Amino acid sequence: MAGSGTGAPVGVLALQGDFREHIRVLASLGADAVPVRRAEDVRAISGLVIPGGESSVMDKLSRAFGVAEPLQEAIADGMPVYGTCAGLIMLSDRIVDGIAGQQSLGGLDIAVRRNAFGPQTESFEVDLDVPKLGEVPMHAVFIRAPVVDEVGEKASAMSTLDDGRVVAVEQGNLLGTSFHPEITNDYRFHEYFLERVRRVGYSS
Ligand code: GLN
Repeated sequence: MAGSGTGAPVGVLALQGDFREHIRVLASLGADAVPVRRAEDVRAISGLVIPGGESSVMDKLSRAFGVAEPLQEAIADGMPVYGTCAGLIMLSDRIVDGIAGQQSLGGLDIAVRRNAFGPQTESFEVDLDVPKLGEVPMHAVFIRAPVVDEVGEKASAMSTLDDGRVVAVEQGNLLGTSFHPEITNDYRFHEYFLERVRRVGYSS
């Protein structure tokens, strides 16, 4: 199980958003999951989940709390990170339709469009094919979700909607989904992330 094999715990960025759900899911998969709010928390983890929520608020808080810079260093240093929804926005190199001055941590060579489904479509659910995670389709919940507008050379798509829009990507040790597996009961993305955490054995 993760946790016993990883040494350092796995962090969940806990400034805003649905971090509690991710901590619960990671713990249910055997990981030692801890909230991350400050620079010193970043030094103690072997991987990080960035939850859904509101990316512009998460961006401001992460800079105000002094946690953005150590996270950027850890990302550049190869720490495995999984971002869902707002977390995907935080991980993307380019944001389309961000609020004025909005920044991201970056790392994924992608452009992400915030609130890509418009105000009428606050949320919806679909079954997605994610070939890398097996043949069974994944039931995915989208809530004021972003989409990946542009997948750069270094990143690759893991899943698309029927219309071809990309909603899951990976690049090296970074993983991102537009949707929220933590509020369903299909945790294949979390398992995939924890496998990576165990394999990499990151420590700062
Ligand atoms: N619309 C939010 C944002 O821009 C993301 C929504 C979510 O995380 N469910 O950050």
